[in-house]
Amino acid sequence: MSNIPIFNSDPASGAIRQGQQPGGEIALPHPGIRGAEEAAAIEEEVRKNILVTSVDGLLNWSRAHSLWPAMFGLACCAIEMIASASSRYDIARFGSEVFRASPRQADLMIVAGTVTWKMAPVVRRIYLQMAEPKWVISMGGCATMGGPFAYAYSVLPGVNLVVPVDVYVPGCPPRPESLLQALIMLQEKIKHHEITGQRERPEPDGDFSPYLPDGDPIRRELESLFYPFPGLDDPDRLSGGVPLANR
Ligand code: SF4
Repeated sequence: MSNIPIFNSDPASGAIRQGQQPGGEIALPHPGIRGAEEAAAIEEEVRKNILVTSVDGLLNWSRAHSLWPAMFGLACCAIEMIASASSRYDIARFGSEVFRASPRQADLMIVAGTVTWKMAPVVRRIYLQMAEPKWVISMGGCATMGGPFAYAYSVLPGVNLVVPVDVYVPGCPPRPESLLQALIMLQEKIKHHEITGQRERPEPDGDFSPYLPDGDPIRRELESLFYPFPGLDDPDRLSGGVPLANR
C-alpha cells in the first residue's frame, strides 16, 4: 500500500499531506489514468489481503472439517471403516480421526454393517443422543437396503427407517476410499448449505406396521423413540417404554 497517496492532513500539526492544497482543501485524485491505476492497485491489495465471508459460511466450513464420528460398528463394513483411520488411508486428513466413544461428543454416525431389528432401537437411541447438528452416512449394502440379507426376517430393509441418512455408500464392503469419498461429499453438502449447516431432514416416520406385528416388543420400543415418544411419562418405563421380560 506504500505507493497509495494519503489525501488528508494532520489536524494537530496542520501539516500538509500529499494531495492537500495550500488553502486547506483536499484534492481528490483526477479521474485520469493515474486515478485508475491507483484504484486498480487498491483493489489488488484488498483482493490479496482481505477475506470476506459470513459467519454462517465460517461455521459451516469449520463444521465440515471437524466431523467426529461415533465409535461403533455393526458388522464387516466396520472393519473397512476402522481401516480408514489407519495410516494408509488416514481419515485425519479430513478432520474426522476423532472417533468418539460417547454419542454426546459425536456429530457423525457412520452406520457400518448389517442393521438387525434387534439392533435398530440401539442405533436410533445413539442417534438421538448425538449433539445437533448431526449427520449420517449409510456405509455398505446392508445398512442401505439389507445387502445379502435383504428380505430376511431379522434385518432392516434400510437404516433410513430409523435415522435420516445424508450419504449412501454402495458396496459389500465399500473400500475405505469409498468412505472417504462419502465424507468429502458430506463436507461439500455442509459447506454449501445456506444458513446454518442444518440440512433438510428426510426424517423417518416411525411407522413400523409393514414390518413388525402389533404388540411386538421391538416395534413398541422403536415407536417409543419417535415423536410423541409414547411411554415417556410412564413411571414404569424402564427400557424404551418396554417393560422388562419378568415384570
Ligand atoms: S455390506 Fe457386505 S461387508 Fe458390509 S456388513 Fe453387509 S455383508 Fe458385511
